[in-house]
Amino acid sequence: MDNSRDFREIAHSGGQIIYTFEPNESGGHSLSLRVVSSRPNAMAMVGIYALPPGVPVAVMPIGGMFEPIPQPPLPNCLPIMIQSDSEGCFGHKCPACGNYWRSGPWPNLCPYCATRAPEIHFLSGAQRQYIEHCISMLHDAMTEDAGSVTIDMDAVADATFSTAERPAFYVSDESQQRKFTCGSCDEFNDILGRFGYCSRCGTRSDLADFEGRSIVEIRERLKAGGAPDSAVRDAVAAFDSFIAQYGKQLAELVPMTKQRKARLTGRAFHDLKKVRSTFSDWFDIDICRGMPDAEINRTQVMFQRRHLYEHNGGEVDQHYLDESGDTTVKLKQVIHESAESSHALLGSLIKMAKNVHAGFHELIPPLEGPIKAHADQTAHRRQLAAGMRNN
Ligand SMILES: [Zn+2]
Ligand SMILES: [Zn+2]
Repeated sequence: MDNSRDFREIAHSGGQIIYTFEPNESGGHSLSLRVVSSRPNAMAMVGIYALPPGVPVAVMPIGGMFEPIPQPPLPNCLPIMIQSDSEGCFGHKCPACGNYWRSGPWPNLCPYCATRAPEIHFLSGAQRQYIEHCISMLHDAMTEDAGSVTIDMDAVADATFSTAERPAFYVSDESQQRKFTCGSCDEFNDILGRFGYCSRCGTRSDLADFEGRSIVEIRERLKAGGAPDSAVRDAVAAFDSFIAQYGKQLAELVPMTKQRKARLTGRAFHDLKKVRSTFSDWFDIDICRGMPDAEINRTQVMFQRRHLYEHNGGEVDQHYLDESGDTTVKLKQVIHESAESSHALLGSLIKMAKNVHAGFHELIPPLEGPIKAHADQTAHRRQLAAGMRNN
């Protein structure tokens, strides 16, 4: 596996932020700001209000280019512009678990622990230092009546890949391990590890990963002539890690006894009968919803056959005969799968994964706002495209 692109340092998007101010009648300063950037990389920008010495207070709504800066929510707040990294993303840090990720400017929750908080609580350490730096420069310039101050982020961006000494003030971001665009709200997320919540709407990324990566890879191997026995083994293992993620999240987010928590987090999910009853009895999540009995039984047997492939070299043991009720094979016989039965199992696993995901989000609902906004935008774009075709 190629990990060379994990944890790369990503340069700031650069540019210069120029604050101009003049004393006003009330004894304070009237402030205007301008951002100059001529760099070829991506650059997005948001604004916040902050209080000295660098306390973020609220998101600043940014209007058009020539619109005045809106009034701050508290007196003495200063407007601070925060720019993205050179890939157009913003780094964030969770106030609860302390972990870092990158996404759009304003997350609603942590992709790792699902903590929800107002957007400005997710500013990264580097952004907080930057805010302090800006406030101190502004404060000094206003005290000295300097008329203007320039925050030079070009120097910061240039320092990332240079061997020269870095400027006294420095910001960059760091690429993480799994980059995904949320299917529900279209937000880009770059997170540590493989699975998480979309930091904008709270939809889990596991289902898209399972269906769009794990199962696709196994199907491709099968199509290329790979052994169906290995496909069954790998598919059940992939489903096991998929459902373990939801188990872990339910253990974290739903109040339950220590014993249940331990059972949910410390155990493999290889026994479909037990997994079904756990999820159904404890959370009212029916993993096999909508599946005919014959399909459920077939899948259950495949889970048991996985055990033989994984631990017994494919030889039938007494446990398998007792548990599966399979009368077509005898003790010690080596069994094999067909490509058809493997493909059928993959289809059933996708149905089950969708049931787990839907049941989980019934208990831990995602945020409707970002999902609806994305749906409205998509509908609007479709209408425009249809209009253009009709003209
Ligand atoms: Zn967190
Ligand atoms: Zn989302």
